[in-house]
Amino acid sequence: MEDVACILCGRHNDEIAIHENGFTGRRCCQCGLIYVSPRPSRDDVLGIYASDCAHVCAESHISTGYSRRLRARHNLAIVSSFAEGRDILELGCGGGHFLDEARNRGFSPHGIEPNPIQARFIREELGIPCEESPLREASFGGKRFDVIYHCDVLSHFFDPLAEFTAMHRALKEGGVLVFETGNLADVGESYFRCIPSFQYPDHLFFFGLRSIRQLLERTGFELTRTYAYSILPQLAASRVLTVFKTWLPAADSSSSRPAAAAEHADSGVDKSHQSARGLRPRALTKRGEQYAKYLLRYRIGRIAPKLGRPQTVVAVARRR
Ligand SMILES: [Zn+2]
Repeated sequence: MEDVACILCGRHNDEIAIHENGFTGRRCCQCGLIYVSPRPSRDDVLGIYASDCAHVCAESHISTGYSRRLRARHNLAIVSSFAEGRDILELGCGGGHFLDEARNRGFSPHGIEPNPIQARFIREELGIPCEESPLREASFGGKRFDVIYHCDVLSHFFDPLAEFTAMHRALKEGGVLVFETGNLADVGESYFRCIPSFQYPDHLFFFGLRSIRQLLERTGFELTRTYAYSILPQLAASRVLTVFKTWLPAADSSSSRPAAAAEHADSGVDKSHQSARGLRPRALTKRGEQYAKYLLRYRIGRIAPKLGRPQTVVAVARRR
């Protein structure tokens, strides 16, 4: 564990914004960035993903497909409106749902995923090129891309400045970087109690609009557009649903299938064309739940009040 300063300002800060799992998130009084300090070493952080010890395990990434596909389609619509070419690279591509959807839209997808189980799934089951090492000049033989995309990855980077510099290098001239990240740095701390988990130490940073802009400017990008979505409606619905489910008798006890298998039937990548008629009632209910979450997050969240409230942000930046 080492004490670190704000990566953007170089300032050591005493203000503690978050304390979870024995880790401390400090808020930079200059740029608002929330960063973990003291924090684990780079090897310890990489080990979380290599050994499948993250808060979200490989099996969950691969199996919870429907909600991830809805999210992928939403963000691909944004990507498509800015992309000027078809070569796309996703960093931290999870179960590969975004890459598969991108291929369906005519993109030529590539992925980088540090979790070996997920990376193998993407290569062998989806047939999409996927490397496990962090993005470097030699990745994919030095190939350069029209679009680089990542979703809920920025908070996990050990060195965001180095990673964004690598993205800049891997983009073609005028290429576009699109990423989604939770904005907690601009959130009033009274709302922090609404967040069920900050997922420390998987998450090392929480950026806000000011620090995102600084990160992009420091690494050769120009922020083109941001889309913000309040996640409060989704969080409230999840809480109500959790309470509701505790009142119900064990719904799965009569099922002959293990829960994980049922989840697969709902969402597996290779079952994306399965008709609704072929799904069991439980899977249909689960699909309905996931679609409702999507509507709450991106449709209702888009029009809900956002100032000072927990939100997710999709940022679009162009390589200078
Ligand atoms: Zn700072």
